[in-house]
Amino acid sequence: SSRPVTVVVTGAAGQIGYATVFRAAAGDLLGPGVPLRLHLLELPQARRAAEGTALELQDGAFPLLEGVDVFDDAAAAFEGASVGLLIGARPRSKGMERADLLEANAGIFSVQGRAANDGAADDFRAVVVGNPANTNAYIAASHAPDVPRERFTALTRLDHHRAVAQLAAATGARVADVDGVAIWGNHSATQYPDLTHATVGGRPAPEALAEKGLGADWVAETFIPRVAKRGAEIIEVRGGSSVASAAHAALCHVRDWVRGTPDGSWTSMAVPSDGSYGVPEGLVSSFPVTCRDGAATVVPGLELDGFSRARIERSVAELVEERTAVRELGLL
Ligand code: NDP
Repeated sequence: SSRPVTVVVTGAAGQIGYATVFRAAAGDLLGPGVPLRLHLLELPQARRAAEGTALELQDGAFPLLEGVDVFDDAAAAFEGASVGLLIGARPRSKGMERADLLEANAGIFSVQGRAANDGAADDFRAVVVGNPANTNAYIAASHAPDVPRERFTALTRLDHHRAVAQLAAATGARVADVDGVAIWGNHSATQYPDLTHATVGGRPAPEALAEKGLGADWVAETFIPRVAKRGAEIIEVRGGSSVASAAHAALCHVRDWVRGTPDGSWTSMAVPSDGSYGVPEGLVSSFPVTCRDGAATVVPGLELDGFSRARIERSVAELVEERTAVRELGLL
């Protein structure tokens, strides 16, 4: 049997972390038959809770799980890791300014980027879940000069799933019949969920929507806000933020990245821009991507109409602003 893959999970005792580690141990992260070791990183005050999670993982008697270690020191936690699930982040508290939020998270993600640089395995790759996820990934990459930039990505897969599910519901189709949805830009309210290349049962999505009496107005006024504000809707209905759906998305993100996207299909990931579609090079922005041999490639040559271009520009402008703010604070 093969050597286990070391996976570092930050914020492991938090809600999303807790929902993620059991499914990772069950094989949903790296695929069936791939043994793994989990490194659970937590803040000192949450370390005990992470130790409790480790006990529960032991009680799962997962055949693929070859060990669990708990850390409150990033350098030790990232040692030998091939995969990073960077979930823990400093949430915005009441009265907190944006600069304070960026500063607190820059502290966390610069330390983790440095830890990945110095101690992670050569094939290290990470998905950032903790918000502001795109900019946190940018900061981590900036502090890991020896790790190829494209190994630091951010999660927009939950937005992607939300868009797929909403399109399926609106057209009365099965989720499995929906393809070609894309999320562009920042994982924030400015994100652009794009249906212009989507298909439903092989037909263009606009055609399938038109059959239900839904046109461009529905896309702009109902669909896009529904997807972009779904997090708030979950909080309102559930009484707490999305957890299991976020964990599921993070697992799917890494699994597709490592094992590849299905032939002829793409997914959405926030990756360092290669400059395509007018997104400044290096900015961690969401794109439609295909994955093969462990690399994610932005889908080339898609035609964007004026509406799409304007929406993408707006979200990318927000990312540029976040980067500028972080630079001005001297955090890069
Ligand atoms: P959650 O597990 O609910 O959320 C973790 C992060 O995921 C938050 O930043 C949250 O952003 C973000 N997130 C991104 N996308 C989504 C989404 N679609 N829905 C919901 N959340 C999303 O937070 P908890 O407070 O339960 O847990 C955080 C844990 O991290 C704590 O245990 C804390 O101790 C730990 N931590 C660890 C650090 C470390 O290991 N060095 C550093 C900082 C914290 P948002 O807040 O915007 O919802």
